[in-house]
Amino acid sequence: MPGLGCSDLEALRLHVGDCHRCPLGFTRARVVFGVGDPNARVMLIGEAPGKNEDLKGEPFVGAAGQLLNELLAHAGLGREEVYIANVLKCRPPGNRDPEPVEIETCTPFLREQIRLVGPEVLVTLGNFATKFVLKTETGITRLHGCARTTGRFTVLPIFHPAAAIYDRTKRDALFADFEKLGELLAGENERPAAPGSEEPIAPEAQDTSAVEDTPAAADEQPRLF
Ligand code: URA
Repeated sequence: MPGLGCSDLEALRLHVGDCHRCPLGFTRARVVFGVGDPNARVMLIGEAPGKNEDLKGEPFVGAAGQLLNELLAHAGLGREEVYIANVLKCRPPGNRDPEPVEIETCTPFLREQIRLVGPEVLVTLGNFATKFVLKTETGITRLHGCARTTGRFTVLPIFHPAAAIYDRTKRDALFADFEKLGELLAGENERPAAPGSEEPIAPEAQDTSAVEDTPAAADEQPRLF
């Protein structure tokens, strides 16, 4: 899909404007565009703004955001060093799951953010971001911690921090996966699995359906989701 042709993130922010392209525009308080270093090596992609984000206009500022900041520190990263955005720019009422039409309407903005930031690593937080980026039906429980190459990006799917706030097991997995991110950035990890490869980094991710599901594997053209 061709990009939106914005020259920089500010131009994209103006393009998004006071968006009412889908019904969420009529229930949210603020568009939550994204935040961080416009030249970041790492871009984190969440699901959608929650109540605190909707009020502040910034992603991950609530409890999940606090945990995310701790996780970033664990990977040796400051929040200001990364770029953070969501699949949806507006809060779904009551924090319900994003609807397909909302994802379809909103994700051209996310694609453009990815193009403009040009990160090395995309960290997908939870099922919605992972499904969008990897075009897979495989759940995050099987995919988390397994880095793979999609086009020119390394994609690292990770549990959503909100899912780990009251779940010790997921919390431990999150810290382990962010440690992996730190190693990846320091070049201490093995090369991530290429699309179609049967040897992903994480041993638990021996299920190759996600890899087979990637557009790059499907049509053998390395391209962005
Ligand atoms: N959860 C998300 O997915 N994104 C946010 O910005 C906040 C919570």
